[in-house]
Amino acid sequence: MTHEKRPRARATRIVATIASNAERPGALAALLDAGVDVVRLNGAHCRPGEIARRVALVRRLSRSRRAPTGVLLDLGGPKIRLGTLPGGAVSLASGRAVELFPGVASAGESGSAVRLAVTYPALLVDIGPGAEVRLDDGRIRLRVKKRLKRTLLATVVVGGRVKSGAGVNFPNSALSAPALTCKDRRDLAEGLAAGVDFVGLSFVRSPAHVVALRRLLARVAPERRPWIVSKIERKEALAVLDELAAASDALMVARGDLGVEIGLASVPRAQREILAAGRRHAVPVIVATQMLESMIENPTPTRAEVSDVAGAVHDGADAVMLSGETAVGAWPVEAVEAMAEIARAAEVPEAGTVPDVASPPPPGDFSAVVARSAAGMAREAHAAAMVVYTESGRTARFASKNPLSIPVLAFTSHETVRQKLALLRDVTSFRVPQARSVEAMVRAGDAVLSRLPGLAGAVVVEISGAAPAAGATNTVRVRRVPR
Ligand code: PEP
Repeated sequence: MTHEKRPRARATRIVATIASNAERPGALAALLDAGVDVVRLNGAHCRPGEIARRVALVRRLSRSRRAPTGVLLDLGGPKIRLGTLPGGAVSLASGRAVELFPGVASAGESGSAVRLAVTYPALLVDIGPGAEVRLDDGRIRLRVKKRLKRTLLATVVVGGRVKSGAGVNFPNSALSAPALTCKDRRDLAEGLAAGVDFVGLSFVRSPAHVVALRRLLARVAPERRPWIVSKIERKEALAVLDELAAASDALMVARGDLGVEIGLASVPRAQREILAAGRRHAVPVIVATQMLESMIENPTPTRAEVSDVAGAVHDGADAVMLSGETAVGAWPVEAVEAMAEIARAAEVPEAGTVPDVASPPPPGDFSAVVARSAAGMAREAHAAAMVVYTESGRTARFASKNPLSIPVLAFTSHETVRQKLALLRDVTSFRVPQARSVEAMVRAGDAVLSRLPGLAGAVVVEISGAAPAAGATNTVRVRRVPR
């Protein structure tokens, strides 16, 4: 039997953001039933205790469903905003003078200029004449004319009405903000104690930020240690994309801030570049933001949204993400169902559109070598699936990037690893007991495989190791699943 003939489950994963609505009885259960693979908690909007409570809710529901669900804690990061404004909003007419200063509250107008507080302590150090300032998702644009002792003098280029707390971006300035804020550190501590599977690093600009976060995660046992998702939303991040992909466990195309930073027209190209970097470095990529935005209000998506989701799937995204659609929208379950249906329809088994562009594996990285050889063998042998025994999930990550897009059936002894594998395209995971020998481990796997529809007697390519332990992967063989 060849992989084309086997009925396939949906290969692309769905990440859904939840907020307080999901804590209503039955709400999260309905989202999981509709097809959510990974639940995202947006740290920027979480109050103390909410992370722990929501992780516990996800765990309770996935246990009762016997299906692993990943939890992504997306740290808010050093998001820059306007401080509060008197009356809550102000109109900025084109050509008007504006004074920007570091602070959390604006006094309103001063003489002929509007005074705006910006929640960025290094404002007067990092930002200088010629800097572009974009407010409220890029809708309003200012240009800095002069740096004074306590303020930046700017002019409104494109005007509009702006509210307290609107997002502020400085697309052509290099920022020195630390990667993690005090709130991020508190959220991270709560998330680690609760056992999240992924940590999202917002506004990452350099691999050093990823390394610093990895240091904070080192005290967590390896099988429970979260994977780091670097959110690509700054120009500086795009400039070091390969280094970031190599340093991270996953990438996110954070199209909201990215669109403001590089301009909307450049986002589709950046998305493809990020997806290609994910393939080169065998890290999963999540495509995020406004995928089914109109479903915040409407029960069906627009044609353009359907094309957007399908395009991400064609281009090899591991996961597509819902934000407001599931966090605050009126049609959260319908949004997940629509996404699942679009992804399923867009998945093509031969995946001929996704080129094989893996980087050469680092010297001595046997998992990567073996997984790549396994993909070649699977092609030659017309294998129905790749079977992976994985302690940390890393080998499954390599296998999931196989250019054939055949199903990857991953066996691990840790439920926490299964929760991470929930993000990987094409991967279905199973738990097997910790075995003393490789033979016992494979016997346990065979017992599961031979009961799966269409797999008894089928050709598979199997990746295993010298011992049932992390770092021991060194073997690939082609064989038939026992009947
Ligand atoms: C984004 O900017 O697209 C994004 C996903 O980040 P956040 O929702 O945290 O702003």
